[in-house]
Amino acid sequence: MRPIQMVDTRSQYQKIKTEVDQAVLQVLESSAFINGKPVHEFAAALAHYNGSKHCIPCANGTDALQIAMMALDLQPGDEVITPSFTYIATTEVIALLRLKPVFVEVDAKTFCMDPESLRKAIGPRTKAIVPVHLYGQSAPMAEIMEVAREHNLYVIEDNAQAMGCDYRFPTGETVKTGAIGHIGCTSFYPSKNLGAFGDGGAIFTNDDALADKMKMIANHGQSQRYYHDVVGCNSRLDTIQAAVLQIKLKHLDEYNDARRKAAEYYDAGFAGIRQLTVPQRASYANHIFHQYTLLVEDGDNSAAKRDALNTFLAGHNIPSMIYYPVPGHRQKMFASFGAGEQDMPITDWLTQRVISLPMHTELEKEQLDLIIEKVKAFFQN
Ligand SMILES: *Cc1c(COP(=O)(O)O)cnc(C)c1O
Repeated sequence: MRPIQMVDTRSQYQKIKTEVDQAVLQVLESSAFINGKPVHEFAAALAHYNGSKHCIPCANGTDALQIAMMALDLQPGDEVITPSFTYIATTEVIALLRLKPVFVEVDAKTFCMDPESLRKAIGPRTKAIVPVHLYGQSAPMAEIMEVAREHNLYVIEDNAQAMGCDYRFPTGETVKTGAIGHIGCTSFYPSKNLGAFGDGGAIFTNDDALADKMKMIANHGQSQRYYHDVVGCNSRLDTIQAAVLQIKLKHLDEYNDARRKAAEYYDAGFAGIRQLTVPQRASYANHIFHQYTLLVEDGDNSAAKRDALNTFLAGHNIPSMIYYPVPGHRQKMFASFGAGEQDMPITDWLTQRVISLPMHTELEKEQLDLIIEKVKAFFQN
């Protein structure tokens, strides 16, 4: 049995090595390291896959969020609503641009933005909403888009963890996450569902004017060479990364299926453990399991019990992670926004209970069986 890892990018690479090696060597031969043909081909293929009119590749997922927010002409102090229960990149760029992050709660079952909490947070300076499709499951987009329409707000989807997830509108219409809001952002960090061999990111939109503006911002605000119309940044996807991603995109659905299968296997294995809640699936989306995240319940002792499980598994060479140990509203970074004083009982409750198990496309039955056996052993003691 291979050692168990949170993410096994190496075994995945081995399966497509011949094709990937050839594609990378071709880039080396062409030496078009920046803006080479694979960058344009990959962007077109990804736009098509996602059902978005435009796909703008960039250097990473954090840049994608930053460029999206820069394109909206927001003024310092304007408010952007986002969940506290997310990775720091989502909220950090808001503050970086001198905007004000306003944290809202997530649903305790889906871990995604709670539309009720969103409604309550809207004020006169609210300009945009950034829902996060956390752990590979869509936020409730029909409700979020409805709130945005009512209050004339932009929606930027943080799709870094859910590339390939299908959201089903109440009408039955199915749309990929990242293609629903005004702008969608994603990351190709190696551990993401569509991961490169380094950093990468992309921005989606169906709006032609926004697409032009974001392209310009990602390229030093340049309209034509050496003519700079707006303040931008330098954010590009390397040709080598695009060449790798072009190949991996063809496997994305199969990769997401493999994750889903592993999740179902875990679910069955953990059935009957009273103190453990397996990830709940929202009725409106197909979870693609960027993470497989359990809740450990032991009353006031939950965090200690969860941490003990983490230590116990580590003792058996099984990694597990807490995503994320400190929610946004408790980060020192945001203290000046008075975030720490905010009352966010659901977010705090989740933060004490979540634990993520190894999740990737190459999990073997033997590995899953061992993980399940050890988790069960922990709760039987
Ligand atoms: C990974 C991630 C990002 C940032 O992506 P990078 O490519 O690492 O900059 C943003 N938001 C979420 C939710 C993420 O998981």
